[in-house]
Amino acid sequence: MELVDLGIKAAQAGLAKGEFCARDIVESVIRRYREKNGEIGAYLTFDEEHALRLADANPKSVPIAIKDLINVAGQPCTCASKILKGYVSPYDATVIRNLKANGFIPCGRCNMDEFAMGSSTENSALGVTRNPYDLTRVPGGSSGGSAAAVGGNLCIAALGSDTGGSIRQPASFCNCVGVKPSYGRVSRYGVTAFASSLDQVGPMTKSVDDAAILLKALAGRDEMDGTTPPEPVPDYPAALAGATLKGVRLGLPKEYLEVSGVDPEVKRITEEAIARCAAAGAELVEVSLPHTEYAMAVYYIIAPAEASANLARFDGVRYGHRSEMSRDVMSLYLKSRAEGFGPEVKRRIIMGTYVLSSGYYDAYYGRAQKVRTLIKRDFDRVFAKVDALITPCAPTPAFKFAELQDPLTMYLNDLFTIPSSLAGVCAASVPSGFTRDTNLPVGVQFVCGGYEETRLLQVCKAYEGTLQ
Ligand code: GLN
Repeated sequence: MELVDLGIKAAQAGLAKGEFCARDIVESVIRRYREKNGEIGAYLTFDEEHALRLADANPKSVPIAIKDLINVAGQPCTCASKILKGYVSPYDATVIRNLKANGFIPCGRCNMDEFAMGSSTENSALGVTRNPYDLTRVPGGSSGGSAAAVGGNLCIAALGSDTGGSIRQPASFCNCVGVKPSYGRVSRYGVTAFASSLDQVGPMTKSVDDAAILLKALAGRDEMDGTTPPEPVPDYPAALAGATLKGVRLGLPKEYLEVSGVDPEVKRITEEAIARCAAAGAELVEVSLPHTEYAMAVYYIIAPAEASANLARFDGVRYGHRSEMSRDVMSLYLKSRAEGFGPEVKRRIIMGTYVLSSGYYDAYYGRAQKVRTLIKRDFDRVFAKVDALITPCAPTPAFKFAELQDPLTMYLNDLFTIPSSLAGVCAASVPSGFTRDTNLPVGVQFVCGGYEETRLLQVCKAYEGTLQ
């Protein structure tokens, strides 16, 4: 047992008792990084000297691995894109400031799909990440590096970001707890934007306790992000004492459980999870979210639309890569973007620009916004009747590299995670077992209403207890 194998709770206990200090933990992370990262590729870069310096300045703090789209002053922030290769952040994101203020330090930069667009981390332009449970398979995405770092014990815990499932699906593939907070619960200031009305940073951890500790550190009002309300941040870790499923009304959304094409082992593990919840005292209630079938189409209009606007700033002038081939300012923009962005990012920019163009705006973007409201109302209605929903997290366990060739099949990975993202509610993936034939981890998703993170974490904690 190395220090890097610990979770946050155990690491904090050891620090408090003086059994070790932050430098000991960071040195352990570095040893594991040197030994394992060549094979797993969880980290894109790891500034050992920076991590050790922070550890020495904050000897009671716990190092956290950071997805490479969150700005840390003086560190690279590439979003796994060639267009940001060589970019160094001039400032800390609010989540990083919050981490530092609460006894954590950032440590290492995790790989991801380029600009968080993807479900396998195969869209990274800067490196390959392998699933620590089976090196021939993907870690999921877009927070695949963070998930592989947690699941492969290359860190104590990590930050990911989730726009349509990018924390929850890789957490499912790599046997981690992954929490997508309600929209606005966590500041997005200093987090490179993909789709601003959906993006949320959240914890990826080895236990529900750790997720609660990390979320408490991250969450709260931020003057720099107008979408964070002044809602007080509950003491999530304290709320987990005595967490129980007894009397919890657990909704089974029929639209999720009747979907075709779900892997039979995912089905079995989800059904067993539901049965364990019932045995632990949860009251099962069948519910319906009738607009679920439109969520995918709505997401693939709204997210690319917002992405096309957000990514306009990467133009070869203000940030990162600048083409050597340009003749004038227009060709500088065009060539820098053509050379800098990968195929999936270009696809999203083209789709997003199209759905926002005059003449098509009402037919696509305007309409998608209306259907998004209907999806949100589905959740409001259901959460008047139940405390939480239980669903599969991803339709399959981790798949092999290059197994999903066409973009649409890749998009289907987020079937179960996208609706809650559109509704802005909170959701989490919790490790739930392994497939029989291939021995791959599978997570189950729990969903609660907006700003109901306390309840979500309590349900997840009690559920985690049914597995032991
Ligand atoms: N896989 C989805 C996409 O490609 C979700 C990504 C995310 O949550 N960042 O858009």
